[in-house]
Amino acid sequence: KNESFIRASEKLSLAGQLAAGIAHEIRNPLTSVKGFVQLLQRGIQKPEYMPIMMSEINRMELIISELLMLAKPQNAHRKPMDMCELLEHVISLIESQAILNDVQIQIEYEEAPLFIQCDANQIKQVFINIIKNAIEASQGGTIQVRIERAGDAIVASVTDNGCGIPQDMLDQIGQPFFTTKEKGTGLGLTISNKIIASHEGTTAISSVTGIGTTFKISLPHASQRSHPIERHEIEANELIS
Ligand code: ADP
Ligand code: MG
Repeated sequence: KNESFIRASEKLSLAGQLAAGIAHEIRNPLTSVKGFVQLLQRGIQKPEYMPIMMSEINRMELIISELLMLAKPQNAHRKPMDMCELLEHVISLIESQAILNDVQIQIEYEEAPLFIQCDANQIKQVFINIIKNAIEASQGGTIQVRIERAGDAIVASVTDNGCGIPQDMLDQIGQPFFTTKEKGTGLGLTISNKIIASHEGTTAISSVTGIGTTFKISLPHASQRSHPIERHEIEANELIS
């Protein structure tokens, strides 16, 4: 009995993991900034303090803005969207970052349009996070984005030939604040997973260290006709305005 009690309390809810993570992640830069302010109060100032304080403050700001993304309502503004068009747009947004890192992004699909019922900005956010990670894991090379239909699902995969993820680390990927990067927040995939789950989709990762990684996102295929849900939403909106 004791054992299961311990196990249950060890396995924190997402809210619990977040609270613990926030406390930890915000306290470090905060302590650092506080230290510098205390030095300044004693009249000890060096020109190198300011950029360090600024970067610590920027880090707190980044963590907070990503946490706000996690807190956002997930069911707003759903419309049928063509996944191919959406991903073409995401790639155009992130292209400059790829070029700066000497990475090429290729996109391929045999059939278009392929509609999903989604909040376009949220799904864009998901693929920005995933492709950014792929760029950060790569040194040169190519990122392949593929969109295809698999039965009732639209499957979009992002494959890189980057560093890969060790098998024993796969379980931790997507847990709040889990990062292997010096400047990472470890929130990107937590946000992505939450958005995909709220769209009744699934995420799968396969990876081989030294070879590369594939993220596979499946989302329900939607017909182009508006769903009853959407009609409902429109009525509700009309009622409000
Ligand atoms: P962050 O990018 O801030 O570290 P993420 O939630 O986006 O946070 O990613 C968590 C971790 O997952 C990364 O730190 C990295 O170790 C691993 N990861 C994610 N995508 C890839 C990838 N394409 N190749 C290798 N490792 C990856
Ligand atoms: Mg990331």
